Amino acid sequence: MVNIILLGPPGAGKGTQATRLVEGRGMVQLSTGDMLREAKTSGTDMGRKVAEVMERGALVTDDIVNGLIAEKLAHGARGGFIFDGFPRTLKQADALGALLAQQGLTLDAVIELVVDDKALVDRIVKRAVEARAKGLPVRRDDTPEVFEVRLREYYKNTAPLIGYYWAKDKLCQIDGMAEIDTVAALIAKVLDRA
Ligand code: AMP
Repeated sequence: MVNIILLGPPGAGKGTQATRLVEGRGMVQLSTGDMLREAKTSGTDMGRKVAEVMERGALVTDDIVNGLIAEKLAHGARGGFIFDGFPRTLKQADALGALLAQQGLTLDAVIELVVDDKALVDRIVKRAVEARAKGLPVRRDDTPEVFEVRLREYYKNTAPLIGYYWAKDKLCQIDGMAEIDTVAALIAKVLDRA
């Protein structure tokens, strides 16, 4: 069983690669973005609170996302967990370390999808166009304006995790600009080594 974090800015392909790992290896994807979007539609107070924050492209509080992850970790995952979009701050990274230790789990690798910022805006716009063409709901934060805010949040709050996990000897950097299949193969190599 392997537990990994997929790290990278919005649009880097974390969700796409996580889906492959779920299908191919029976891993469990824990996407705080998906959990928050679900909470948004639940009509609860928490849902209303996070909706406004997400639409601006800002980060919701550490307590909220740490709570969501704690709940899911308790269920366990035979194939291992993929943390997708979590942790996004140093506080969340510390919280994850503590939660994993509580469950007797280890973090095996942090896979950073290294991408070119300029290409990301195009990907985000493409994601919205494709969703619309398939009749799927378009993410309200997939606009160039909100994307810019999300990218800034990434560099300010999340990018420091690269150094944090490098210092813990957990960081593996992968070319996220490669074809989807190539990226998947590179990730598989890391997992098979872990
Ligand atoms: P994502 O689907 O990962 O792009 O997340 C969509 C939005 O959900 C982000 O722009 C944030 O507003 C919020 N979000 C998701 N994960 C986190 C997290 N770990 N910490 C804080 N906010 C988060």
